[in-house]
Amino acid sequence: MSDPSLYKDRVRVYPRAVRGVARRVKWAVLVFCLVVYYALPWFRWTRGPGQPSQAVLLDIGHERFYFFAIEFWPQDIYYLTGALILAAVGLFLVTSLVGRAWCAYACPQTVWTDLFMRVERLIQGDRNARMKRDQGHTDFAKIWRKTATHAAWLGIAFWTGGAWIMYFADAPTVTRDFWRGTAAADVYVFTSLFTATTYVLAGWAREQVCTYMCPWPRFQASMLDEHSLIVTYESWRGEPRGHGKRPPALLGANQLGANQLGAKPLGANERGDCIDCSACVNVCPTGIDIRDGSQLECINCGLCIDACNEVMTKTGQPKWLVRWDTLANQEARAAGRPVPFHLLRPRTLIYIAALVVGFVVMGVALANRAQIDLAVEHDRAPLFVTLRNGSLRNAYTLKISNKTHEATAFAIGLNGIDGAALSLAEDSEDHLPHLTLTVAPDAIGTYRVLVFARPAKPLDAAQDLIFTARNARTGETAAYTSVFMGPTAHATR
Ligand code: SF4
Ligand code: SF4
Repeated sequence: MSDPSLYKDRVRVYPRAVRGVARRVKWAVLVFCLVVYYALPWFRWTRGPGQPSQAVLLDIGHERFYFFAIEFWPQDIYYLTGALILAAVGLFLVTSLVGRAWCAYACPQTVWTDLFMRVERLIQGDRNARMKRDQGHTDFAKIWRKTATHAAWLGIAFWTGGAWIMYFADAPTVTRDFWRGTAAADVYVFTSLFTATTYVLAGWAREQVCTYMCPWPRFQASMLDEHSLIVTYESWRGEPRGHGKRPPALLGANQLGANQLGAKPLGANERGDCIDCSACVNVCPTGIDIRDGSQLECINCGLCIDACNEVMTKTGQPKWLVRWDTLANQEARAAGRPVPFHLLRPRTLIYIAALVVGFVVMGVALANRAQIDLAVEHDRAPLFVTLRNGSLRNAYTLKISNKTHEATAFAIGLNGIDGAALSLAEDSEDHLPHLTLTVAPDAIGTYRVLVFARPAKPLDAAQDLIFTARNARTGETAAYTSVFMGPTAHATR
């Protein structure tokens, strides 16, 4: 027995144009996504002198992410983590409610593939013309249409790659520098890289990305259940399928209105509503047949619904032979007992609750986000110094983050050890209960300070020491618990 091959040759898909509600929704979402993607880097936002004026900017060089009025520092990485978790839970909720709506309408792979297919159709014609041309001999018309298609794809890909770079640098500046040839080398490298990936993924790989490269279809099945809204084929109404428009005598029992009540046994000469025209297959961007049931390749775009509705209208039969439905409802309607949709189910309620909690926690955390951050590092060597008068000295490095846009004076204080005093390392003669340290706007100030103390009782190696940094203007305070080191209790006896 020969081994079955694990490799399947690619069957080229030539999706046909279609009109209908799913197609209109897809166009609307596509236009919205593209406009947002290409236009967003050009939005301006006033942040004050010396600050970037781009509304959305990931400034890697200065370790900042600007999102309109919010400015994230590296220490705020947990907000990004929270946003990603919320996005994932939102995706789980949408999938459990309406299947792969993300894949069908808003995934970048779908959006750009749809755009590339539209360009291809404009230049090379619809499905039949493209198939005929690909199978025919090479002539001038074929050469110029193919060349024009790839040139247009490359143009879009370049625009897309260039727009991506603008999220990492000031858009007007990087655009001007790019065309003058004075931009940094990595701008040209990454623009080329994103141009190439867009061209390959949307122009060549297309449905192969969704079927073989993307992990999401593999585990989205765990979010679906029999009450999720997906694209389905009413086999109880469509079968047995047969070619062509049927004479009234052969119309099945599942006709005009009866389909809403469920299947009835068909007579020997009766046929289902499906005329086996393959319109639903021909419009499918992944080239599958929805009549074979729910499949991994199906992105739930609904274009087969539009195609079948066109056919049903032409043949004078009720629409929605292919429709958005739940598997539970399909089964129930086939048995003549329609069931209502169950949008609120334990799994969707859990996702909704997780989203609400996540948004509240993120919202409160963002609203109360500190404008100061204080980090303290104790010197490792020596851990402490015993002075001639018997008191102890410890050294620390303070890092004060000033997230405001103005130079700010911070009052540094100590808690935890009575009588502890501070001094700047380079000015160790003055022992003060407080120090005033100034930090430049939107910067981290680093200072080395000394703490002098004579603890009332033996330290037994270490005692908590709390540093505080108070914004002298606003009163906002940050604290950091460090340690004050000394000899062990045993050693001091
Ligand atoms: S089977 Fe229908 S819903 Fe699924 S991908 Fe194809 S056209 Fe879209
Ligand atoms: S478009 Fe409708 S009628 Fe035509 S093959 Fe598909 S399901 Fe059958």
